[in-house]
Amino acid sequence: MATPTLSIVKGSYTVDMDAQINRVNKTIDNLNADKHSLLELSNKLHSTLDLDNLITLFKLDITPILNLDDVLYLSSDNTETIDTNGRHLVSYQLVLHKKDLGEIALIRRTRFSEKEQNFIEKVLIGLLSPLNNALDYQHALNLALHDPLTGVFNRLAMNSIVIREIELAQRNNNPLSMIALDIDFFKKVNDTYGHAFGDCVLKHLTECVKQCTRASDAMFRYGGEEFNLLLNNTSLSGAEEIAERIRENIEQTPCICNGESINITVSMGISLLNESDTQESFLKRADDALYHAKSSGRNQVVCERI
Ligand code: GH3
Ligand code: MG
Ligand code: MG
Repeated sequence: MATPTLSIVKGSYTVDMDAQINRVNKTIDNLNADKHSLLELSNKLHSTLDLDNLITLFKLDITPILNLDDVLYLSSDNTETIDTNGRHLVSYQLVLHKKDLGEIALIRRTRFSEKEQNFIEKVLIGLLSPLNNALDYQHALNLALHDPLTGVFNRLAMNSIVIREIELAQRNNNPLSMIALDIDFFKKVNDTYGHAFGDCVLKHLTECVKQCTRASDAMFRYGGEEFNLLLNNTSLSGAEEIAERIRENIEQTPCICNGESINITVSMGISLLNESDTQESFLKRADDALYHAKSSGRNQVVCERI
């Protein structure tokens, strides 16, 4: 029988810590894998809670042993398909105590032998627990850094992200703009339609903003009905254009909640980072510009005066 030129074993293995132990025990003597180096790798993987670091460590260790072209990790909510580009792939669905930890795929030009697959499975057993810890940690971080109502970054996240982006922009001499946004007469919306409706408006506003911004732009809920947007590599005029697009989108898109439909408006102020700015001064100038937008009639965008 002719040897197939391409072997794709995608998703055909489930490595479950409970289920897999017997299998590994059964085949352990046949493996070339040195127990000491496997333990060393497992210890190394336990040294980080950062998901990217963990996958990088795993990749660095396993790549030379198996002469791999690539190691890809796809989280459980990832719907991407892997393009093998005609190469061989073994892919494992990682499950720990019935919890889906995602998928890992190993790719190279030559086929994977049965023996190598046994080795991979054994190494993957050592990845399960650190991966589970890293995913739990990532989940906890996400909860700590995001606003539960709108899903955007909260003020805690804003502090560290803005400081980091200011440093980067000042070091590389890149423009960085900040938009401060506040809903107009939001108290009236709450008073007229109730607090739950107000919450729905906040979610609607977030969606409207996201439709007008790039994935690299960070949106923060500063508090109540006040939001900030940090736009990297964006000049004042670029930020003004985006803010105007946001303003128009919000004004023109009705917010529909529980059968009621209303239109809201927002006011925005914009600042551009300068070389001596701190986080406070950068934010303050955006806030001052917002104050002008409010006092000169609302539903408008005002840029700081340079
Ligand atoms: P202005 O145009 O000057 O900004 O007027 P405003 O009414 O929007 O501003 P004001 O600061 O007087 O009111 C803000 C309101 O936002 C008051 C508060 O009840 C409401 N608010 C703050 N946080 C939330 C929230 O999480 N949900 C809801 N529904 N309302 C909130
Ligand atoms: Mg307001
Ligand atoms: Mg306000």
